[in-house]
Amino acid sequence: SDITDGIGRSLEGLVSTVTDPFGDPVIRLGVTGLSRAGKTVFITGLVANLLDRGRMPQFKGAERIEAAYLQPQPDMTLPRFDYETHLAALTGDDPRWPESTRTVSELRLSFRIRPSGFLSGLTGPRTLHLDIIDYPGEWLLDLALLDKGYADWSDETLARLAKRTEAAGWLAQARAVDGSRPLDEPEAQALAAGFTAYLRAARAAGWTDCTPGRFLLPGDLAGSPVLTFAPLPRPAMTPRGSLWREMERRFDAYKAKVVKPFFRDHFARIDRQVVLVDALGAIHAGPAALEDLRRTMAEILSAFRPGRNGFLSQILLGKRVERILFAATKADHLHHSQHARLTAIMQAMLREARDRAAFAGARVEAMSLAGLRATVEAEVTRDGATLPAVRGRLLTTGKQAVMYPGELPEDPARLLSPARGGAEAWLDAEFALMAFAPARMTVRPGEGPPHIRLDRAAEFLIGDMI
Ligand code: GDP
Repeated sequence: SDITDGIGRSLEGLVSTVTDPFGDPVIRLGVTGLSRAGKTVFITGLVANLLDRGRMPQFKGAERIEAAYLQPQPDMTLPRFDYETHLAALTGDDPRWPESTRTVSELRLSFRIRPSGFLSGLTGPRTLHLDIIDYPGEWLLDLALLDKGYADWSDETLARLAKRTEAAGWLAQARAVDGSRPLDEPEAQALAAGFTAYLRAARAAGWTDCTPGRFLLPGDLAGSPVLTFAPLPRPAMTPRGSLWREMERRFDAYKAKVVKPFFRDHFARIDRQVVLVDALGAIHAGPAALEDLRRTMAEILSAFRPGRNGFLSQILLGKRVERILFAATKADHLHHSQHARLTAIMQAMLREARDRAAFAGARVEAMSLAGLRATVEAEVTRDGATLPAVRGRLLTTGKQAVMYPGELPEDPARLLSPARGGAEAWLDAEFALMAFAPARMTVRPGEGPPHIRLDRAAEFLIGDMI
C-alpha cells in the first residue's frame, strides 16, 4: 500500500509512505547500533523530547505539531519498547541508566499536525504515526552470513581469529576437536559456549565484527540448537551424523529460521534508519578497534544497498530506506569545543564507508549527539594548563567530578589514515574514568530531559514529513 501523504507532500512528490488502515501516513523508523551504543537512551530521550518540544529549536517542524502522544503499536506480537520504565530510570529521584536493548521492540508515537501551505484553510489537522523499531545491530551484521556456507564461514572466521589474542583459548579448543567423529551433544554445547565466550571477550576488547549476532543477544533463543554451533576446521571426512555435518545443519537453520525471518518481518519494512555508534569508545580503545568500526560501518551500509543480496532484493521488492543517520553517541563526554571534531570524524568515516560499500540512493548524514546529557561543561587545570572539561556525577561514588577526556584531532585523517599518524593514541587522558550517572534534574513542564542535538536528528529523520 504505497500511497503518498495526501495534500501537501504529494504535490512535492517527495516520498512515498505506507499508510495505516485510516489512511494516515506511517513512518517506520529503525534504531540500531551494537550493544551499549546508546539505543535505549537515544529512543527514550528522543520520544520524551518529541512529546514535550521545549528543547528542540532545530526541529523546524515542531511549531506545526499540535499534539504528540503515544498510542498502541500496530504489531501486536512484538514487545513494546518500555518507554515509561526507561524514562523513570533516567529522570527519577535516583537517576540510573536504563536496561539496554536485548531484542527487537516497538513504540508508536503519533502527531497531530496543523495543515500548512495554500490549502491549509481547507483541511483539518492531519495525523502522522512514527513507529520506532529498536533492534540490535548485531542482528543486522548477520546479513553477511546469508551469502556463506558453513565451510567458508568457518574458514574465514578461524583465519581472522588467528590474529586475536582474545581467541587463543577458543582456537585451541576448536583445533583439538575431530569433526569427523559422531556428534556428541555436550561437546557441541561446550564448543558453542567456548565460541560465545570468545565473542564476549572480543566485544569487551572493542572488536565489533562479532557474528553470529544471536550468540551475544539471543533474544528468546538462548540454549536452542540453532545457537549450538561454532566454526570448526573441516575434517577430511564428514560422514552423516558427524559433529561437523551437524554443525553445518545448525548453521543453515540459523540462517533460514533466525536471520531471514528477522530481515523479512522487521528490516524490510523500515523507511528511515538511525545507526548509533560508540565512536568515542572505539577511538579510546585504539587503532585496531577503530579500524574494525570503520569496516563495520561499511558492512551496515551495504545492508541498505538494494541488490546487494539476492534474498534482500527479493523481500524488499524495490522498496528502499529513504534516509540513514549515522550518529556518534555520548557526545556529552566532550566539551562542546570538541563536538565539531567528533562530527568531522563521523563524516569522514561515513564517506569512506559509502565508498567501500559502493552505496548510493538514500540520503545519508553523520552527526554527534547525546540521547541524555549527563554532564555540564567546566574547565580543569592540568600541569598548569586550563583545559575544556566536563563535570558529572560518577557512577562509582555518586560524587561530582570534573574530567578532561583528552583531545580529538582537528583533521580526521590523523586518526583515520595510519600513514598520517593513525596509530597515535587519542582520548587517552581521563576518558577511561568517565563513567557518569545521569544527572539529577528537574524536568520543567513542556521540556524533555536535556540532550545534545536530538532536535537536529529529528529534523533530518522526520522533518520533511511534518
Ligand atoms: P543499547 O545497548 O544500545 O541500548 O545502549 P544503552 O542506551 O543502554 O546505553 C548503554 C550505556 O551507554 C548506558 O548505560 C550509559 O552508560 C551510556 N550512554 C548511552 N547514552 C548516553 C548519553 O547520551 N550520555 C552518556 N553520558 N552516556 C550514555
